[in-house]
Amino acid sequence: MAKTIEIGETPVNYTPTPRIDFTKSEYEKAIWDNGYDVVYEKAMRCSCKSREGGENLPSCRNCGGSGWFWVNPKLTRMLLEQQTLKAQYQAFGFERPGHVSITALPAEELSFMDRITVNDARSYHTEVVFLDFANTDGKKTGRLIYPPISVEAVFLFVSPLSPMTKLEDTKYSLVGNLLSIEDPEINKLEQISISIRYCFAPAYHVIKENRTSMITRTLSDKPKMPVNVTGELAHYTFDQQNAYYNDTVQTHLFDNSYVNNNCK
Ligand SMILES: [Zn+2]
Repeated sequence: MAKTIEIGETPVNYTPTPRIDFTKSEYEKAIWDNGYDVVYEKAMRCSCKSREGGENLPSCRNCGGSGWFWVNPKLTRMLLEQQTLKAQYQAFGFERPGHVSITALPAEELSFMDRITVNDARSYHTEVVFLDFANTDGKKTGRLIYPPISVEAVFLFVSPLSPMTKLEDTKYSLVGNLLSIEDPEINKLEQISISIRYCFAPAYHVIKENRTSMITRTLSDKPKMPVNVTGELAHYTFDQQNAYYNDTVQTHLFDNSYVNNNCK
């Protein structure tokens, strides 16, 4: 016998819950007035995956081996707020750092792994970069997680028993997030790893969609409601995505941007 679907009873004392219907102009104005200037880029998975293991090709100039590429950078405004876990959950797992709640205009259609860079904010980061790939010009290169705004220090690792060698600015160059060694002697070394500390504009990836674009059906013009997602600072995001490109500079990755075809 086919299953019948029980229809839940309406609560006895049911009265419609009071609700507020926002009008488009009010909430869009609130986001615009209080938001930060951001660059919003859409994420896409890169199809350079192998059929067997699902690994992406390190030599791929679409994703730089990260498995993702970002397209259609757009300057817009979004609200960003600190997001903390509720106290009762803190004892049961580690607190995820670097999370923010991001509210955007409905037109932005935010999705998983999209990248939001906050232009006017500054943060510091340190990381180790393995300079394994030699460009056609013989310079060893490696990609940072963020494109630095300014570099505080770069150290070359020599051996566990000797001090780091601090590299002068002339010994390396930066184009976007691509670091190249400019010193012919260092480029001759077999395995090069450097430590770097730098200043950057924080970039967040969408890791959770809390409220996707909704249509308010009670209003005649059916306005879409703002979108809310959880963003995570890129260096906490799994696999540390680091594919950046820039039309004006050569970062050795392709720009696959296209004309937007938004959801109707
Ligand atoms: Zn790829």
